[in-house]
Amino acid sequence: MLGSGAAWPIPRLGCDCPQCTSSDPRDARLRSSLLVDGRVLVDAGPDVYHQLMRARAVPEVVLITHHHYDHVLGLHALAKLGRLPLHLTKESERGVRAIFPRLDFRVMHLTPGVKLELGEGLVAQAFDVAHSQATRTMALRFTFPSGATLVYAPDIGAPPDSKLARNADVLLLDGSTRDQRPGGHMPMSEGVEVAKHMKAKRTLFTHVGHRTGTFVELEAWLDGAAEVAYDGMEIEL
Ligand SMILES: [Zn+2]
Ligand SMILES: [Zn+2]
Ligand SMILES: [Zn+2]
Repeated sequence: MLGSGAAWPIPRLGCDCPQCTSSDPRDARLRSSLLVDGRVLVDAGPDVYHQLMRARAVPEVVLITHHHYDHVLGLHALAKLGRLPLHLTKESERGVRAIFPRLDFRVMHLTPGVKLELGEGLVAQAFDVAHSQATRTMALRFTFPSGATLVYAPDIGAPPDSKLARNADVLLLDGSTRDQRPGGHMPMSEGVEVAKHMKAKRTLFTHVGHRTGTFVELEAWLDGAAEVAYDGMEIEL
């Protein structure tokens, strides 16, 4: 987990809430992105360059879930890595090009359900999720050579209807809010139920929002039903 925060970083500048003043490093959250196998980057928000430096990782391929700023503004900083393969939907390509007309990547389009071979036996499959009327959004299912599966859905507003969301060994879900429905983001209280329904073996919340509580408070509130991700967390599969 390179980053585990929602659209704006925590601590917020000038905020003195318990989350922003926490001394627990797990409460400092940069924009959500995921590094799979140390080489496959999922999403490239404004913090991604420093997140990769911190992880000492150089991505070989980039996948984008959708073109909201918190998921793509860091692409510019990756443009000098030598035309990396960039997988995203046609709609997201259009959205990204509105920000960066010259896109120094080898652009390839994600097609829902189609297996994307990422080398060394790692496969990704994208599926549509409800998040924003204007912004087509994908979640991703990764299958590892061992058969283990990981589903990544950092921005999701309603229970997924794809079979690809089911039976994951690890399910990473939107943690923008606890109970509120800001629109486009399913609250964690509902995410816990959805994860049960989807028969996830292990569920973690990422894309964790402001004023949801400190890491310790959130883990206590979830009471074992799910876990809370944090920046720099490593998940073994
Ligand atoms: Zn987001
Ligand atoms: Zn705060
Ligand atoms: Zn979004």
